[in-house]
Amino acid sequence: MSKKITKIAVMTSGGDAPGMNAAVRSVVRTCAYHELECVGIHRGYDGMIEGDFIPLDARSVRGIINKGGTFLKSARCERFRTTDGRQIAHNQMVKAGVDALVVIGGDGTFTGALHFNAEFDFPVIGIPGTIDNDISGTDRTLGYDTALNTAVDAIDKIRDTAHSHDRLFFVEVMGRDVGHIALNAGVGAGAEEILIPEEDMGIERLVESLQRSKISGKSSSIVVVAEGDKIGKSVFELKDYVDDNLEGYDVRVSVLGHMQRGGSPTCYDRVLASRMGVKAVESLIEGKSNYMVGTIHDTMTLTPLEQAIKGESKINKELIRVSEIMTT
Ligand code: ATP
Repeated sequence: MSKKITKIAVMTSGGDAPGMNAAVRSVVRTCAYHELECVGIHRGYDGMIEGDFIPLDARSVRGIINKGGTFLKSARCERFRTTDGRQIAHNQMVKAGVDALVVIGGDGTFTGALHFNAEFDFPVIGIPGTIDNDISGTDRTLGYDTALNTAVDAIDKIRDTAHSHDRLFFVEVMGRDVGHIALNAGVGAGAEEILIPEEDMGIERLVESLQRSKISGKSSSIVVVAEGDKIGKSVFELKDYVDDNLEGYDVRVSVLGHMQRGGSPTCYDRVLASRMGVKAVESLIEGKSNYMVGTIHDTMTLTPLEQAIKGESKINKELIRVSEIMTT
């Protein structure tokens, strides 16, 4: 039988995402509800190695459900990639009397947690906190909905100025390997074209399509481009090519960048964070380990961490078709 859990640590790691604070709050309050001790680890695995822990009770997480970022701070930690680093981290956890860990982060964070569990048989549960929605085993990752709404809001504003000046804007949104933000924000903001890593449209077809839009009477256009789009090496090269090959448009670029990571989480992300925190702690109490919590068809689920890391988060083909029809 697994050891009874009395003290749980929670940390945020990797790239930050809106809703991380709400998830920490949920973990802390669920621990309090079940009369378990809880500690926060500052700065992800860096803080674990340095023993930078802070006791957290139900009241210490007041007023943070609506705050972006993560009050525990996040970090990328090279030392945790080594067995020596993880050994020091384990010593710190034992010294602090911690007997289980909730990690909030992306696939890198989960990989580190899996190594930690394999080496020390230490119970771990992951909460997928990343704006890219690039983890399988959950319909949505924490922070994705907020990032999407931030992107749509920004594109709406760019649309205003594009329209006033008859401009063609390339708007780059986050997503190196997956185009979830680009596709959904593009459809939501009524973009003329959407370029995602999963589909290579080809630059000639893009120019032809923009040409057709212009002939059909459009005086301004928005092209939403995911960072990892396959056509150009960068959005600026795309802009240069279209500038040289399409007449009659003043072409501009707007890179939304880190603003997509910040901001107050949407209601969806706050609720998701609250549900995930409860599921994470209660799974540890039930003796489960090496799982990621998620929602599939709005039901809380557990997916083996290994599967969550390796699995593909597939782009919605039906939505690609919708976007094609909408850009007619
Ligand atoms: P995001 O999706 O936002 O990038 P992430 O969790 O994938 O988040 P990473 O920087 O890849 O972010 O990973 C976070 C931390 O997890 C790393 O800084 C490192 O400490 C740890 N980590 C990542 N990969 C490994 C690994 N193979 N072995 C041990 N630890 C790892």
